[in-house]
Amino acid sequence: MQRVRLLVFNAALGALDYRVPDGMQVEVGSVVVAPLGPRQILGIVWEPERLKTQEVPEAKLRPLLEVMPVPPLPAELRRLIEWTADYYCASLAGVARMALGSTGALRGGGTTTEYRLTGAEPARMTPQRAAALDALQGEQGSIRELAELASVSEGVLRGMVGAGLLEAVLVDLDRPYPTPRPEHAPPDLNPGQREASDTLVAAVAKRKFAPFLLDGVTGSGKTECYFEAVAEAVREGRQVLVLLPEIALTENFLRRFEQRFGVAPVLWHSSRKASERRRAWRAIVHGQAQVVVGARSALFLPFADLGLIIVDEAHEVSFKQDDGVRYNARDVAVIRARFEQVPVVLASATPALESMQLAEAGIYTRIELPDRFGGASMPDIAALDLRKHPPERGRWLAPPVVEAMQQRLERGEQSLLFLNRRGYAPLTLCRNCGYRFQCPNCSAWLVEHRFSQRLACHHCGHEVPAPETCPDCGTADCLVACGPGVERIADEVAEIMPEARVAVVTSDTLGNAEAVNAFVAAAEEGAIDVIVGTQLVTKGYHFPELTFVGVVDADLGLEGGDLRAAERTYQQIAQVAGRAGRGEKPGEVLLQTRHPEASVIAALAAGDRDSFYTAETSARRDAGAPPFGRWAAIIVSSEDQAEARDVARAIGGRAPDAPDIVVFGPAPAPMALLRGRYRFRLLINARRSAELQRTLREWLDPFDFPRSVRVNIDVDPYSFV
Ligand code: ADP
Ligand code: ZN
Repeated sequence: MQRVRLLVFNAALGALDYRVPDGMQVEVGSVVVAPLGPRQILGIVWEPERLKTQEVPEAKLRPLLEVMPVPPLPAELRRLIEWTADYYCASLAGVARMALGSTGALRGGGTTTEYRLTGAEPARMTPQRAAALDALQGEQGSIRELAELASVSEGVLRGMVGAGLLEAVLVDLDRPYPTPRPEHAPPDLNPGQREASDTLVAAVAKRKFAPFLLDGVTGSGKTECYFEAVAEAVREGRQVLVLLPEIALTENFLRRFEQRFGVAPVLWHSSRKASERRRAWRAIVHGQAQVVVGARSALFLPFADLGLIIVDEAHEVSFKQDDGVRYNARDVAVIRARFEQVPVVLASATPALESMQLAEAGIYTRIELPDRFGGASMPDIAALDLRKHPPERGRWLAPPVVEAMQQRLERGEQSLLFLNRRGYAPLTLCRNCGYRFQCPNCSAWLVEHRFSQRLACHHCGHEVPAPETCPDCGTADCLVACGPGVERIADEVAEIMPEARVAVVTSDTLGNAEAVNAFVAAAEEGAIDVIVGTQLVTKGYHFPELTFVGVVDADLGLEGGDLRAAERTYQQIAQVAGRAGRGEKPGEVLLQTRHPEASVIAALAAGDRDSFYTAETSARRDAGAPPFGRWAAIIVSSEDQAEARDVARAIGGRAPDAPDIVVFGPAPAPMALLRGRYRFRLLINARRSAELQRTLREWLDPFDFPRSVRVNIDVDPYSFV
């Protein structure tokens, strides 16, 4: 009799043993269905010696029910899953779940019915029909998906099917993707780019683990260079994974990829519709999808024959996942490349300090692109001391910034104002009684959004209509907005330069692909004079007529003062400055600040990246912070404040007594209340010599926490709230 051990998709159960019935073919890595009590459960067949569980006598083993018709998960991926769970103190089941698509994807095959417009004119027009006819041009999908797209009810669309306005089409769920064509439109690389791309291409051909830091200034052509490595992998028939930090950047990337390779890559992210995700997942496991572009969740996909991994904008903090499995996709990408024995390229103009250090140590090969492509010069950055150049009363833009924008407007060039704050104002209060609008679920003020006339919490989504009277003292017309958000800056620009065409760019306004495309098209056509945006506009975009960037509050990111505040500020401002002067005309950048002497601001103004990295490196070394030491956080939360505090104290009371580990806290978290849960934090600082993960496990495992309490471990944390 053959017995197998399964990793099952239930963190509490861990591993379970089963019997393989006669005639069933299973291997290590097979995805199977097994009985669990009266229910069924999905599992992956694992090496029994690598998964601990209680031995069950043979007579008691129940038989597997079914093997899913997909290739077994390769050993390299199984090792990656184990490594990730171990390093981040997460459950194997939680990590393994990220590798599998939906159950539908596992079964595969078959067809589905989708609908599209026929082009016929309606005999009877209604406002809903008109909206649907407008919204569904060129779209195809299930009735439910189309209803969502067009914001009409499914009933309206069914009526349109009956009226011959929509027709059904039978779609093969597994239809293959077109193959990218390496010779479609290769660029003419300059000598520096050629050297960089040759190195990467050679590494792809070698089929060995090789980590690269592609360190090139903004506009140097990093994308063009790594595209050549992608082309090489495609020529060899191997697969490529490109990780991007944000969905908002994918539209831009897709266009460039299509220009270079003639077809679009396969897109992977959680907000795609189910049928597309399923099709993509199956094409990836069968090796049919050659180039896959995705957000961090694409990292664990079971590629059949991976040949190269790219992490673009590798310094971005959004590669760190802060719920569920708290992993850093940039770091795990390098580990995956090692298990798969393939090259990995971390591309950035402002590499993370950790990456710089690894390059310095010779572990990563650094490839530099020090110049902008096509002779464009780096923008001229200057600090603007707000104490010497105060804005007018009630305004936020200093006179030199206003003047710079007016000049650009006269010359038909574009300006970009950067402020990393959505909405109109971050705080609203009552002039009469001092009442402040606070979120009932979070330790946060409600942010006024004038476009939607609401006050919203950016942490939990709580919203109320903007009130006319103070809810506390009842006075009318007494509410004042405090501080600026991008909407308020846009209003100010409109007042100062009424003829300017202003676009506000935030996740509120660029929520989907259509909106992103419309914005990019308008900016490229010169139909926008001033862009006011949050961090969404700091990277990726290339608008040749954009010659002025104003940073509204360069000090904003330094306020929290957490471990990475200086680095994040440096990166964000260097990236947004990098949008200026990418064409033939030189760019100018003004940083509004109250602390021009701060080392970050001074380094930016001096264009002296090295001095920033040197100062930051020695500060980190002194603090024993990454990459010289390591941090981990334990976050305890409960709806009951006393309960959360007691558990946090109990954990703190049994803190390990080790020479290479220091424990701080517990203390109430800066976000002491988040989504209705009270939070306490402990921070652990470890020397590199410490066995951090083992210490954490041995410390926390003996506890039996009440179900109402959540205890999360965050290894290498990025968020300190
Ligand atoms: P980065 O990612 O380093 O900021 P990009 O790859 O976006 O730089 O390149 C900046 C711009 O210069 C893009 O519009 C790109 O198409 C163009 N470019 C870079 N290198 C070349 C080249 N060799 N030939 C033609 N255009 C190039
Ligand atoms: Zn909230």
